[in-house]
Amino acid sequence: MRKALFLGNWKMHHTILETKSYFEKFLRLLLKHNFSDRTVGIAPPFTSLFYVHSLLKETPVKLCAQNAHFEEKGPFTGEISPLMLKELEVEYVILGHSERRHLFGEGDELIQRRVEGVYRAGLVPILCVGETLNERKEGKTFERVETQLKKGLAGLKEINPERIVIAYEPVWAIGTGVNATPSQAEEVHNFIRGLLEELYDEERAKRIRILYGGSVTPENVNELMREPNIDGVLVGGASLDPEKFFKICSIN
Ligand code: PEP
Repeated sequence: MRKALFLGNWKMHHTILETKSYFEKFLRLLLKHNFSDRTVGIAPPFTSLFYVHSLLKETPVKLCAQNAHFEEKGPFTGEISPLMLKELEVEYVILGHSERRHLFGEGDELIQRRVEGVYRAGLVPILCVGETLNERKEGKTFERVETQLKKGLAGLKEINPERIVIAYEPVWAIGTGVNATPSQAEEVHNFIRGLLEELYDEERAKRIRILYGGSVTPENVNELMREPNIDGVLVGGASLDPEKFFKICSIN
């Protein structure tokens, strides 16, 4: 019922030259798997979107973005609008990533506006939620995730469940090499599924994809994906290497 989703988040990595060499390898690997039973996407930096758009045109790989503003245009220096992303056929937009929250001070209210703006523009928001290590140690994981989820989705009373994605990314697992165990991740994913039922209804909650993110590698992806409520992965570090990312995306 839920098509698996594998997304690479390049963050602030890869110049255009490096991107060229990445796709020379990745597009060759794509000949081995057509990904018809799953969705695969890559979120390069904004400066490469135009170029990557042309490279991915004839492939099944979706173009994604790492953030977006909620307005179509206006005096918002440094921001990119959903309309600009749509012009490049971007389909998914990562929002509320922990680096945006913790390094750039984005709060739940701003993230909610971004989620709503991106959704209403016809793109698919990927709302990231997750607790810090201290919050986990203090037993506040569920409370933190619930607040982020409910605030992030507050503008979307009516939704098409295929057009929204949630990513559970525990902050302590991002870029640390320490992934959540499958059961730790499943526990939170199951909790999120329950919250989505409360917010919408059982039928729609069942159709919303919930991704896990945090030190996913070709070595740990299989066991994570075996959990019933893990519908895909959001991959940072390992997506920077075309071979590693291809391995992750092509698991059985
Ligand atoms: C991320 O940035 O979304 C992420 C999960 O990073 P990493 O895979 O490197 O932990």
